[in-house]
This record gives sequence, C-alpha cells and structure tokens, in this order.
Amino acid sequence: QPLIRINNLCKTYPTRSGDTVALDKVNLDIGDGEFIALVGPSGCGKTTLLKILAGLEGGFSGEARLGNVAITKPSLEVGVVFQEPTLLPWRTILENIMLPVELVRMDTKTYTKRALELMEMIGLKGFENKYPRELSGGMRQRAGICRALVRDPKVLLMDEPFGALDAMTREFLNAELQRIWMRAGKTVVFVTHSIPEAVFLADRVVVMSPRPGRISEIVPIGLPRE
Ligand code: ADP
Ligand code: ADP
Repeated sequence: QPLIRINNLCKTYPTRSGDTVALDKVNLDIGDGEFIALVGPSGCGKTTLLKILAGLEGGFSGEARLGNVAITKPSLEVGVVFQEPTLLPWRTILENIMLPVELVRMDTKTYTKRALELMEMIGLKGFENKYPRELSGGMRQRAGICRALVRDPKVLLMDEPFGALDAMTREFLNAELQRIWMRAGKTVVFVTHSIPEAVFLADRVVVMSPRPGRISEIVPIGLPRE
C-alpha cells in the first residue's frame, strides 16, 4: 500500500474572469521512503498539489490520502518547506527551529537534542544563537529544513526550496538534502523548475503540464543509491 495516494484529484479556483482549473484528474501513488520530484512549467498546478498534500488547501474533489487517512488539515506527520522560510526575526535560529515543537507542547528536551543533531547534520552547527538577519539566504533555508524535520515527520514536502538561492548554494544544498534523505528514510515530494536537480535527487520525476493541470509523464530514475 502506498504511503500517499492521490486519486482523481481535481481542483478549481474560482476567479472573477471565470474558473481556473489547477488540477485535472491527477493520479499518483507515492511509496513509503520514495523521493518524488515534481516538475513542469509555471501554472501547471505543482504548488496546488503540494498544498493539498500539506493539508493547507481544501475545496478539491477526488482523493488525497496519507496512509489510511484522508488529508483535510495539516498533520504532524508532514513537514513543509517553502521557497523562503518565514523565520521569526526576534527569535534565534534554534528557537525558530523549535517552534513546531512548542506549538504542540511536545517534550522540549528530547526535541532540542534532535534540533541540534539536525543543525549539525545540515551544517548549521554554531549558528544556534544567531538571529535570522545574521544568516545568508542559504543558511536560513537550512534552518527552514531543520524546522520542517524537527518533529520527525514521515513526509517532507518542499516547494522550490532552493529557488531563491544562487547556483552554487543550490548545488551544495541538493547534495546535503540527498544525504539527509538517504539517512532518514523520509518520503519526499520536491517541487522544482530544474530538471537536473530533479534527476539528481529523485527516484521518480513526475512531469506536469498546464491547462489543465495534469501529470503528463512519470520518469523512473532508477539509479542505485549509496
Ligand atoms: P505552479 O505551482 O505549477 O506554478 P499553481 O499550483 O501555483 O502552479 O497554479 C495552478 C493554476 O492555478 C494557475 O493557473 C494559477 O494561476 C492558478 N491559481 C493558483 N492559486 C490560485 C488562487 N489562489 N486563486 C486563483 N487561481 C490560482
Ligand atoms: P511566544 O514564545 O509566546 O510564541 P514569540 O517568541 O513568538 O512568543 O515572541 C516573543 C515576543 O515578541 C512576544 O511577546 C511577541 O508578542 C513579541 N513580538 C511579536 N511580534 C514581534 C515583532 N515583529 N518584533 C519583535 N517582537 C515581536
């Protein structure tokens, strides 16, 4: 049984000039531990699909399930990273990473330890007590990834997480991400505009096409890992 099941998913945004079909009968099963890259031109529905999986967008028809549960709201099992992490400027990097833990009053001690491990793994060691304005964009994005992972979600959803960064930082973070993913065994859905990035990271590349938003191709990469 797949971890994520997307079945006949349709989403339409009503606008003043008429309805926009963002997703039209999208079907996709994602296995536990699989890394999916989602590519396609602007407006093909990538962000919409990711938001639905994150439980941040309702009003769709068809089915989106995580395990046996229909996705209707944000879940502890799912971590999300957007293009620019919204770090709170008055909190340190560690305090920002711990935010999702504090929000649900989880065991702070255990999760602080985990946050520190994640920071070390992703190259943020030593930045615990810095403030977001003291970090580069690449470092802030690393913090965003740690924040998404701190509660140890099963699924990591990323929407062009490195889109705002320069090419070298991107390449570096891609390598880091692949390393983290291989170790942690997360299920990842990664939206990108970059085919090389998709091929480098993913087990399967899912290609979408616009008008209407549909999956046009699924390309297995099939390279051995490690
Ligand atoms: P992508 O992430 O691939 O660029 P999106 O999911 O953002 O695509 O958008 C898919 C389509 O839905 C586009 O035509 C876009 O203009 C439209 N759309 C997205 N969000 C909204 C919204 N909140 N209101 C109206 N139309 C939207
Ligand atoms: P909490 O730990 O209760 O969630 P935060 O750490 O988010 O609080 O915020 C610390 C304090 O800073 C709060 O009293 C909050 O009201 C205040 N604050 C809110 N917005 C800002 C801001 N933009 N700049 C500085 N301080 C803020």
